[in-house]
Amino acid sequence: MRVRKVCAKCGSDDIVCPSLAVWDMDQQDWVFNLPFDPEYCRECDSFDIADEEIKDEEGRDAFLPAFLVTG
Ligand SMILES: [Zn+2]
Repeated sequence: MRVRKVCAKCGSDDIVCPSLAVWDMDQQDWVFNLPFDPEYCRECDSFDIADEEIKDEEGRDAFLPAFLVTG
């Protein structure tokens, strides 16, 4: 299920997640594994963020590249 992050307070979907990255020496990459979810709304600075399910007919990438159509 695909979800959209929306603010439970003002309904905005301008949600950011300013997670701190931790350098993982084994993976040689930045990992985001904090035990909390600091996502918040940039519209009203609320941390009350909800997951909203995206219906099939919306948000789907209907674009089909022309080279795939023509073969
Ligand atoms: Zn908000």
